[in-house]
Amino acid sequence: MTKVLIVEDSRSFAAHVSKHVRQDLGFEVVVAANLAAAKGVLEQDADFLAALLDLNLPDAPNGECVDLVLAHKVPAIVFTGVLSDSLRESFWNRHIVDYVLKDSMENVDYVVALLARLQKNPQTKILVVDDSRSYRHAVGRLLSTHLYHVLEAGSGEEALRVLGEHPDTSLVLVDYNMPGMDGFALTREIRRNHGKDTLAIVGVSGEAGTRLSPRFIKSGANDYLHKPFLAEEFYTRITQNLEMLEHIAQVRDMAERDYLTRVYNRRYFFSAGAQLLALLARRGQPVTVAMIDIDHFKKVNDTLVGHEAGDAVLRAMAQLLASRFRVSDIVARIGGEEFCVLASDISADQALLLFEDLRKLFETTPVRFGEDTVRYTVSIGLCCEISQSLDDMLRQADRMLYRSKSLGRNRVALYNPAEDAGEPE
Ligand code: GH3
Ligand code: MG
Ligand code: MG
Repeated sequence: MTKVLIVEDSRSFAAHVSKHVRQDLGFEVVVAANLAAAKGVLEQDADFLAALLDLNLPDAPNGECVDLVLAHKVPAIVFTGVLSDSLRESFWNRHIVDYVLKDSMENVDYVVALLARLQKNPQTKILVVDDSRSYRHAVGRLLSTHLYHVLEAGSGEEALRVLGEHPDTSLVLVDYNMPGMDGFALTREIRRNHGKDTLAIVGVSGEAGTRLSPRFIKSGANDYLHKPFLAEEFYTRITQNLEMLEHIAQVRDMAERDYLTRVYNRRYFFSAGAQLLALLARRGQPVTVAMIDIDHFKKVNDTLVGHEAGDAVLRAMAQLLASRFRVSDIVARIGGEEFCVLASDISADQALLLFEDLRKLFETTPVRFGEDTVRYTVSIGLCCEISQSLDDMLRQADRMLYRSKSLGRNRVALYNPAEDAGEPE
């Protein structure tokens, strides 16, 4: 479990912060009331995500506990009542994560957000591009203090190579003045493959004048920093840009996914599905469209506690369904208890086997709901006749679904165009 150390002599303040860290983040909190107690704790075990430190302790009136935790390689967040400019400067020089003023209880929310970020930063990749090794080192140190996964490149060309190896990079710090490709050219090149919504670029330069900032932004950067910068400004800008990416990801998630089951929603299925189908058709790759509908679902809602049991079945069913397909396939809930799958690269024979297996899996995997166990079956209609139109394929899959229903449910039916050829219009 993630642990946080609080070194604080005010018991009420320590209790207030502990409560929030435990409740909001689920972290374990260890409180030490003075420097001696903190020493004892850290000598036993220094595996803390971070330490929240009161600068003014009875046995350490001048922030000595900062040096103590840093010596144990624990990231330090300073909690203080007052802070002069010179003291602040001295703390940034010692590489603390941040400082928080004790003047308002609301600042506890800031600490909670900071701890949450520190916990996920090891998975957040930031690439530092600069031809100066010492600058890369200094910036890398700042980022490492916040536990980011730091990548480095000494030129634009190298940066593109590193990004190719780490396409999940969240942010790139791009120096303007570099031999070879300059910062503007690199920014434009990165933007060819990475949109502003998934990768933030922050331009950096020490050149005098104010013309670089707009030019960086016009080249595709999200933000700009002028060297030399204060650690505090650096961190706030990095955080701000990463938060923006997270908000965009959240909004996209809400727009594309079904709230109840977390699989894709109807709108996403039709827009992304049409694109995927067009691509597969162009490449001549096989594709399957499946419609899946729970049998007699009204009975599940009627016989059990009601909608909640039905919802639990929908969630479990969607999870099982999604687990059986690749990320490149699309699994979506397109109606109440109707799901669609668009799966690429499987032949009609394979599709029939796969969905027959799935049908059996649903039949033999009951859903637990409180004391009850809910069993359910599904009917499936398949169309493997690739067409330019998703609507056409869905229409055929839907016809097959209704054939499965009318033949007694709990079965799979595959569209066969040869049957249609004999049928009058
Ligand atoms: P069939 O075998 O012919 O498909 O019968 P059915 O009862 O499953 O089909 P029908 O389409 O007549 O009814 C679907 C039911 O699904 C109606 C509705 O109460 C239920 N349903 C739709 N959306 C939800 C939902 O989000 N949660 C729950 N719990 N039930 C839902
Ligand atoms: Mg149904
Ligand atoms: Mg239905």
